[in-house]
Amino acid sequence: MRKTSFARPLSTLALALTLAAGGAQAAIKLSDPIPVGPQVTVGKLPNGLTYYIQKNARPEKKLELRLVVKAGSILEDEDQRGLAHLLEHMAFNGSTHFKKWELISYLQSIGVKFGADLNAYTSFDETVYMLPIPTDRPENVDKGFLVLEDWAHGLTLDDADIDKERGIVLEEARSGKGAGERMNKQLLPKMYNGSRYASRLPIGDETVLKTFKPSAVQRFYKDWYRPDLMAVVMVGDIEPARAEQLIKSHFSALANPAPSRPRAYAPIPARSATEALVITDKEASGNSVLIRYPVRPAHDHVSFADYRNKLLDSLFGAMLGQRLQDLTQQAKPPFIGAGSALSRMTPRYQSYSAGATLGQGGAAPAIAALVQENERARKFGFSSVELERAKKDMLRGYERIYSEREKSNSSSFVAEYTRNFLEGEEIPGIENEYHYARELVPGISLAEVNRYAAATIPVDTAKLVVYLGSDKPNDAAPTPKPAELLAWTDAAARAKIAPRQEAALAARLMEQPPSAGSIVSETMDKALGTTTLTLSNGVKVILKPTDFANDQVLLSSSRPGGLTQFGKDDVAAARYANAVVASMGVAGLSPNDVQKVLAGKAAHAWVDFGQYSDNVGASAGKDDIETMLQMLYLRLTGTRRDPALYQSFIGKEVEGARNVMAQPQAVFGDAITTALYGDSPWVSRAPHPEDFTKLDLDRSIGFYRQRFASARGMTFIMVGSFDVAAVKPLLATYLASLPTPELPLSAIDVGLRPVKGVVRKAVYSGSEPKSVVALSFTGPATYSKEENLRFQALLEVMNIRITDVLREQLALIYSGGVSGSISRIPYEHYSIGANLPTGPEKVDQVLVATFKEIASLKEHGPAPADLEKVKQNWLQVQRRAMRENSYWLSQLQSAVTYNTDPAAILTLEQRIGAVTADDIKQAAARYFNLDNYVQVVLYPEKRS
Ligand SMILES: [Zn+2]
Repeated sequence: MRKTSFARPLSTLALALTLAAGGAQAAIKLSDPIPVGPQVTVGKLPNGLTYYIQKNARPEKKLELRLVVKAGSILEDEDQRGLAHLLEHMAFNGSTHFKKWELISYLQSIGVKFGADLNAYTSFDETVYMLPIPTDRPENVDKGFLVLEDWAHGLTLDDADIDKERGIVLEEARSGKGAGERMNKQLLPKMYNGSRYASRLPIGDETVLKTFKPSAVQRFYKDWYRPDLMAVVMVGDIEPARAEQLIKSHFSALANPAPSRPRAYAPIPARSATEALVITDKEASGNSVLIRYPVRPAHDHVSFADYRNKLLDSLFGAMLGQRLQDLTQQAKPPFIGAGSALSRMTPRYQSYSAGATLGQGGAAPAIAALVQENERARKFGFSSVELERAKKDMLRGYERIYSEREKSNSSSFVAEYTRNFLEGEEIPGIENEYHYARELVPGISLAEVNRYAAATIPVDTAKLVVYLGSDKPNDAAPTPKPAELLAWTDAAARAKIAPRQEAALAARLMEQPPSAGSIVSETMDKALGTTTLTLSNGVKVILKPTDFANDQVLLSSSRPGGLTQFGKDDVAAARYANAVVASMGVAGLSPNDVQKVLAGKAAHAWVDFGQYSDNVGASAGKDDIETMLQMLYLRLTGTRRDPALYQSFIGKEVEGARNVMAQPQAVFGDAITTALYGDSPWVSRAPHPEDFTKLDLDRSIGFYRQRFASARGMTFIMVGSFDVAAVKPLLATYLASLPTPELPLSAIDVGLRPVKGVVRKAVYSGSEPKSVVALSFTGPATYSKEENLRFQALLEVMNIRITDVLREQLALIYSGGVSGSISRIPYEHYSIGANLPTGPEKVDQVLVATFKEIASLKEHGPAPADLEKVKQNWLQVQRRAMRENSYWLSQLQSAVTYNTDPAAILTLEQRIGAVTADDIKQAAARYFNLDNYVQVVLYPEKRS
């Protein structure tokens, strides 16, 4: 086994594992059932309703509630196709204790943000309602249970309201239309092999949605929303005894209908003959192939043998996935990306499949590679080196979740219990799972994994081979015919396969560390808990150790620079320089080899050009900080030149860009950019194939080195679970040693400005009856922290109005809204973008309604209640953010970039409180300038 000098924590872990496997721990008996973990109480009421209760401290003062209904679109009768989903919408439209509008408004008033389908979803076999409740006030919890109870058996389902919801759901159906949906219509009946699943897509049937009778919705509710098909999940800030009491008082009275319709699981017939399918669409973004093998039953995870099997499958998947990824790292790869695994299709079925995104060679080499790589694994298995790597990564993964066990968010536990109810996934808890993994993984032998591969990878079975793609394929790879797909699959299966040769790899990222610099000064900020170091090369480091997570370290640096440092003739190429360099790896290692050398470690580092900044980022687990700094050091001090990988990168990008402009959304985006900025080279646009064929390997490396070969002016900010004294020597070694030759360090204003005046444009693209209304408001601004809050509050209030009026009252849209920012570099200005998808016949109404809301905000300001909703939500978000490393990192970064006092983080709540309705009214007048905006509307292409 390879050993690296940076593997200290892992080798300690490996030692512990050996001991455990040697019998120091109580041995797991494979026939024993997996217990339910001690962290959760699972119970059932006499009426059959299941409940899960867990007290959890993160986020603070928050209770996550879920109503999980084991009923979805698969249970719809013919006249109900689409109504399981429409019923889910109706849950927010009136019930015993909440009149129409009241529920959403109440939830907003306690800080719960309401989005398109943000608070519920409907699938084939389930409908899930989500309710995060802030527990500051005890009555919130009581009311939360009332909401849940109403959803379970108290919906009003008023005929007129149901009729009104039709329009919104039809808008939602419209938003899903396009190439993907058209292709799915052909694919799904074949994929589900004639099963009911193919005709029960949750979005439903448009004719049914237009013509159904309200009684059909009411019937679905009566038949399927019943206690024996429901679970209530409660995780967060609540005493379990109180939770149990609330469950009993709110849900004991629910009764199952008598007689009950049987809750059947729709069968998926096994495929009996091999079939090939070619599906093309003129708006398809790229080409792919999919090989799907017959369905097999999926079992609940009951015993430790099941658990061990799950670990085996996961190791197998990781190793096969790595092999497929390795195939992409050559000048002419067989595909751009690929995957192959056993995956769950429905609660009762799983299926083995292999799929690939096609590169310039088209389907033939991809099919050959997919089939042969599977066959190679089936016949010869894997190597012990591959298995060791996969085990290390797996155990490190378990270790990281285990070490965060006290700091995990309630929502992640909720997801587990939901899966337990719906799919029978085991819930022993992470302490137990970590123990199982440590005991079971070391004992999984290569022979066993190879037996598993041989038994799992299908051979000689009936399969479905599918080509999905554009109707304009490249010249080298015309659209295949079904017979060709079958012939290629057969030929690949017959080809002679050799065992794989494992290439020797470097043992470590760096042979030896660079010669260290030193720390020349150190200051501390007690209020913020930060330490600032100045290093011997002039580079600065701000350290903020936290206990927000146990195993997370984040790092960033951003200094003036970026794309505008390059001339207008070079900027197009410079835009891709980082991606080109990253595609070739670091030091002597390709990107895949880096992953392998770092097996069992969590460490990443990347660099990136902003428009006006040079950005560096990195992340690591607490034991992998040195590896992270090495990665960073290597990225900044050297580049790896690999013409084969460069060619692979170019091929991939050209192929990816080839059909971009066949997509209406890309055409639309490009039209907006052009309307705002003309043909300025300084704005990024949808990529075109020529962008990449014009690139040059050495020129790309040159652009990269021009900025990143010097660390001058960089201030690194590091936040997370580390000890300041312990990281100092590492910082002296890897950051104080970075070269810092002179380079220009001020942002360059290249004169990029949006168009002035009112511009209106129409664009025609796409064959579906879909439109999008885009409005862009831009102009000068005067930045302050207070002004920025007023600006953002204006946008949030506007979004509440858009949802209330354009969606709920007028049914003009399903989703959409405004967003924007105030920028300070290279000059102070703001921009606001509105994006409102709708039908072509509703465009004028959407425009009228939107401008009416703008006018109303300017004249009257917001309703005080709406502003209060925004503030409550912000306070919720802020409370959570203050305990997150990523938030601190971004705030400290912003303080460095703009040279402001980072202590402002500590007083945000006061500034939120200070925003008034009158502030918003005045902000509306400042920012919605009707003499200066760009309006672009997308319409379907004109039929000739
Ligand atoms: Zn919906």
